[in-house]
Amino acid sequence: MGCCEGGVRFRLYPKPPYVHPEWPPETISVSESPGAIGPGPSDERMRLVRPIGKRFPYGVNPGPLGTPHLDFPPWKGPVFQPVFPDAEGHFDHLLPGTPEFAEAHVFGTVRFVLDIWERYFGRRIEWHFASDYRQLEIAILPGLNNAYAGYGFMEVGAHRFSDGNHAPYALNFDVIAHELGHLILYSTVGLPTPATQQGEYFGFQESGADTTALIAGLHFASLLEHLLQETHGNLYTFNELDRFAELSPNDQIRLASNDVKMSAFAAGWVDEHALSQPLTGAIFDILVDIFQEMLVDRGLIPRDVAEATRLVRNSPENAPALQPVFDAAFAGRYEEFRAALVDARDTMGFMLAETWKRLTANYFTYLDVAETMIEIETAMCGGRYRRAMAESFAWREIGRVSAGPRLAPPGPRSHSHSARTVAPRIQDQLPRMSYRERALMVGIAP
Ligand SMILES: [Zn+2]
Repeated sequence: MGCCEGGVRFRLYPKPPYVHPEWPPETISVSESPGAIGPGPSDERMRLVRPIGKRFPYGVNPGPLGTPHLDFPPWKGPVFQPVFPDAEGHFDHLLPGTPEFAEAHVFGTVRFVLDIWERYFGRRIEWHFASDYRQLEIAILPGLNNAYAGYGFMEVGAHRFSDGNHAPYALNFDVIAHELGHLILYSTVGLPTPATQQGEYFGFQESGADTTALIAGLHFASLLEHLLQETHGNLYTFNELDRFAELSPNDQIRLASNDVKMSAFAAGWVDEHALSQPLTGAIFDILVDIFQEMLVDRGLIPRDVAEATRLVRNSPENAPALQPVFDAAFAGRYEEFRAALVDARDTMGFMLAETWKRLTANYFTYLDVAETMIEIETAMCGGRYRRAMAESFAWREIGRVSAGPRLAPPGPRSHSHSARTVAPRIQDQLPRMSYRERALMVGIAP
């Protein structure tokens, strides 16, 4: 299926199997031809490793006597045996439930999502760390209760349940795609300096990473089908996309169709994932509006139904009343609805890529995103969706209310611009280790 007939095959779970055991993995192909992805898996842009004995994620870590120091890839310690392709160069022969399947799943997800976004960007997306590393090192670290992407690496841990069980993020497409989203944004929008950083940049990082994953997920044939069979095209009802990023590190606040407005943060903010919600919500609403406009243009639903659904945003209790209209319109029209959803997805993907190309990280505001997207839409679609976009951003109070100051220092849940995402050059700003601690570090002191 998809863009890459003849490419290397992987099997990916559209939804994590520990939440949806009924949902089988789907076979997808990536852009590379058989032979281009070797053991690891690895290719010229990334390699997967399963380290043995890696105690800390990369970034700032305590030394043996407590002095902070920096750990960066590559991992030089021992690793488990890499995963090999089959005789034809594919990775879809691995058995679900094995560590090898999980390793191929992580690599295949990163490659699949990167392919999708490189198509939207119309060019290769270079790593932001390309001056130091050719490849992204993707490490599976079961002891890490999170997932991070930083300078030269992505580390994928596991979700801990209160009963002590854990579920590997290696099998969670949304979490891995979200982390790749951060890397895409570091590369294309960049990082602000401490003097020019604004809170809305951090909210944007989380929103953009979620949007990266959401648009990528809409490339699974089984997810499109499930979504449309469940809603019959009435995407303002609670649906598959609302269960986005289940059991992610921050799953409780990651509803794409939320009703959070900027005034919730006027006095200040603590968590960038919460701050991301008005922007993610606006983008989600615009995506649904574009889909509805396409349904109207193609004669699949009447204009007055599309108008009525726009009002549902303000009063969600009206969504079920519209359901019979969608049920009737959808009957026998699955292919037409699917084509409209794919076109709406791609319109949003191309618009976001063009927007991200133009944004800069310094003095960043959500208003920059709204302005730029509206300009891009005019150039790309001639203003067809302008009203929907302006209404959605205005409803979120973007352009009217700015986020207040950060009220607490970044916590362990923070993804971007944290101790995990610093670049090697901050080494000089850290305290020097004693002679003895340095000796302990390299294992030559008792
Ligand atoms: Zn994040």
